[in-house]
Amino acid sequence: MKFADLHLHTNFSDGTWTPEELVLQAQKSGLSCIAVTDHDTVEGCERAAAACAAVKMEFIPGAELTAEHEDTELHVLGYYLDIHNEKLLAEIARFQVVRQNRIYEMVARINDLGVPLKAESVFALANCKSPGRPHVARAMVKDGHVKNLDEAFERFLKKGRPAWVPKSKISALDAIELVHQAGGVAVMAHPGLNRTDSVIPALVAAGLDGIECFHTKHSTAISERYLEIADKYNLLVTGGSDCHGYSKGKPLIGTVKLPYEHIQKMKEHRAKATTLPSAAAR
Ligand code: AMP
Ligand code: FE
Ligand code: FE
Ligand code: ZN
Repeated sequence: MKFADLHLHTNFSDGTWTPEELVLQAQKSGLSCIAVTDHDTVEGCERAAAACAAVKMEFIPGAELTAEHEDTELHVLGYYLDIHNEKLLAEIARFQVVRQNRIYEMVARINDLGVPLKAESVFALANCKSPGRPHVARAMVKDGHVKNLDEAFERFLKKGRPAWVPKSKISALDAIELVHQAGGVAVMAHPGLNRTDSVIPALVAAGLDGIECFHTKHSTAISERYLEIADKYNLLVTGGSDCHGYSKGKPLIGTVKLPYEHIQKMKEHRAKATTLPSAAAR
């Protein structure tokens, strides 16, 4: 049996591993195929592809886009993206500027609470264009402002806490279109985490291709629920660990193993999409 993990982060967003370290760990976990899905960036894909090629592992270039539909945040995964697609890169660049400005805003709020965290400290630690809350939390631990990441999130960074700053998000329908015009397959990430089932019909109407049924934080019952939804709407089934390296305890890679038949179905779906007349609009 061959297995895949289609949800993995590197240090080009909030994962702790380089693309090369991630591929090494994927090999150790016995995976045959991986996708890198960093938050709002595709920058790690080129190096991950090279590292995969060196060990004959199948690689799918991806990204996890922060999106929203009717005020509900959800994440849209894109697979088989053309990582040089101009529109995709332009949109990503816009998001990254917002993410960087958001770091200053979060740090200012933390400073207002009497904690002398420096933005430079966060940027030095993040060392990427898609910084986020985990980098703020790690910098706070590193500089001795909190004991651990949990404390940083619980006291400051969680939604509703004083240093929580909303992100600007792409509309989920636009995210699906952005993925399609970059040659990709659009998948709704971890639906069980966001309690966003009510948005599924609208996403399907906008051309959603798949749904992430298997995820570390989905119980068996939740996975089964989304397998039924995938069946109902004729959606591709995907899955992944959402591993962020050593960000929090034991790395998650290897805990979700997607049977390879789902990759095969994704490829068949893509082949069909490019031969259908409507593909011209993509
Ligand atoms: P951001 O995209 O900047 O809002 O950060 C979201 C990321 O923070 C998620 O992808 C997780 O990696 C991480 N995260 C969210 N909540 C927590 C938490 N309570 N503890 C640790 N990490 C978290
Ligand atoms: Fe993350
Ligand atoms: Fe996510
Ligand atoms: Zn993720």
